[in-house]
Amino acid sequence: MSWRNAMCGELRPDDVGRKATLAGWVSRRRDHGGLVFVDLRDPTGLMQLVINPERAASAAELAREIRNEFVLKVTGEVVARSPETVNPKMATGGVELQIDELEIVSRSTPLPFQLDEEGVDEALRLRYRWLDLRTERMQRNLRLRASVVAAIRRSMDDQGFVDIWTPGLTLGTPEGARDFLVPVRLQPGTFFALAQSPQLFKQALMVGGFDRYYQIATCWRDEDLRADRQFEFRQLDLELAFPTRDDVLEVLETVVAASFEALGRDAPERPFPRLSYADAMLRYGSDKPDLRFALEIQDATDVTRGSEFGVFSGAKSVRYLVVPKPFSRGELGKLEDFAKEWGAKGLAYLVCDEEGEVQSPIAKFLSQTELEAFAAAPGSTVLFVADEVSVAERVLGALRLHLGRELGLVDEKQDSFHWLLDFPLFQLDDGTGRWTFVHHPFTSPLDGHEELIERDPANALSLHYDLVWNGWELGSGSIRIHRSDVQQQVFRAMGMSEEEANAKFGWFLEALQMGAPPHGGFALGLDRFIALLAGEPNIREVTAFPKVSSGSDPLTGAPSAAGAEQLAELGIRLLDDLA
Ligand code: ASP
Repeated sequence: MSWRNAMCGELRPDDVGRKATLAGWVSRRRDHGGLVFVDLRDPTGLMQLVINPERAASAAELAREIRNEFVLKVTGEVVARSPETVNPKMATGGVELQIDELEIVSRSTPLPFQLDEEGVDEALRLRYRWLDLRTERMQRNLRLRASVVAAIRRSMDDQGFVDIWTPGLTLGTPEGARDFLVPVRLQPGTFFALAQSPQLFKQALMVGGFDRYYQIATCWRDEDLRADRQFEFRQLDLELAFPTRDDVLEVLETVVAASFEALGRDAPERPFPRLSYADAMLRYGSDKPDLRFALEIQDATDVTRGSEFGVFSGAKSVRYLVVPKPFSRGELGKLEDFAKEWGAKGLAYLVCDEEGEVQSPIAKFLSQTELEAFAAAPGSTVLFVADEVSVAERVLGALRLHLGRELGLVDEKQDSFHWLLDFPLFQLDDGTGRWTFVHHPFTSPLDGHEELIERDPANALSLHYDLVWNGWELGSGSIRIHRSDVQQQVFRAMGMSEEEANAKFGWFLEALQMGAPPHGGFALGLDRFIALLAGEPNIREVTAFPKVSSGSDPLTGAPSAAGAEQLAELGIRLLDDLA
């Protein structure tokens, strides 16, 4: 016995007369007194079944029990539909299957939601994910994902990369997130960390003589969950020996193009445009700017240095946006609230009305030079933030995005890929007040910036680069430090003692001392990349079984408490309030 000899979505008028056996799910059942119509679904599509009591009495009897999502096996004859019942919206709409035999293979309890229902609550979808996976959306997304991953593997293979697996259970890897710890039964009191990325292993592979490594790696990071973040995610992880920065960027551009082509889409134009970090922060207030619209931030710090308007002259920096709309008082009030939520003290403005008249409570304090510098076209508004540089960047960056969307300035059809280059090597950690890495501590300084590492860390730039698509950071990489002395210098600049550095990274420092080639690489966040390719707003839609923002899995109910015996075996005792 075989379950089927045809697929639901594949039958066409050419098949008329054929005896076909199909197996699949009931998508819809309509009872026309006597005749029963069923749309049967399998992964290839839908086929209309007709169950006629005159042709198949026992099948018709059984058909009365059929409900949505029952699994059926049916055998019948493919017949042409009469011209008035042809359904041009269905690929199989020219034919139907006149049933001779029907078997209910599997039944379904009443459904918590219908598969074609709009706006089903996500919690419900995830709780019953096996049903949700049957929807067109999830079928399309996960199949798209598989096609992209296959294209990426082909491309990496063509480019001479070797697929090597690295451990998930390891020592803490510093990617800037918390580690997930795994207790070790054989050595009670000790823990593995789940790899935040294969970073040090891939560098060790370079020292190990594998010139080009890649892997579709699973990474685990204990961070708050968001639209573009899950505890565990997959990335295309890669590393090259003896590369220039351009070599690495070229590999990624090839992979992105291959992914687009695998989906039958035009690949974005190459090479992707490049932007320095400093430029991006100044012009867009973000290190992942959405470049599908202009609305650039401008700097007015020099012009306003001696301003009579105290808010301007007293501020470290004054920056502004010229927005192509003359906002009303009410709208300006709302924009000011928005700016305050992002940390601004206020939002000064000049409205240039349709007649070109400037309306603003601050205009009377501004000099002619200032007013000329801010001259805007009739029908626009100049919005100012005067504050610390970082605040001005943050607030205007957020306002820019907000207004870009609100005013419909974003060209949704455009695919804007670009590289961000020349990041700083270090940033100040707000908590500890110490210098910490921007990317990770293995990132090489820009050529000539080695001597700034300890002398002037604030101004040391790095060979770190990010790939950004329509305002989403798709991934990061860098040319690495391959000299143990420079690596130690970076650890020192971060306030790490020699003992601490040795305890955490001793093995790696040793590896760097045994013939380490120059190397560099990248990691592309696959979930984000695929969500964007699928046109989805978050990565849960391209993940078969995602977790929700509380950190749990609505399907299995994980995480769960461990039993006393299991804990004892691991040498773990819970704090009183958790026990
Ligand atoms: N390990 C880095 C990350 O996971 C990527 C890299 O530098 O290659 O973001």
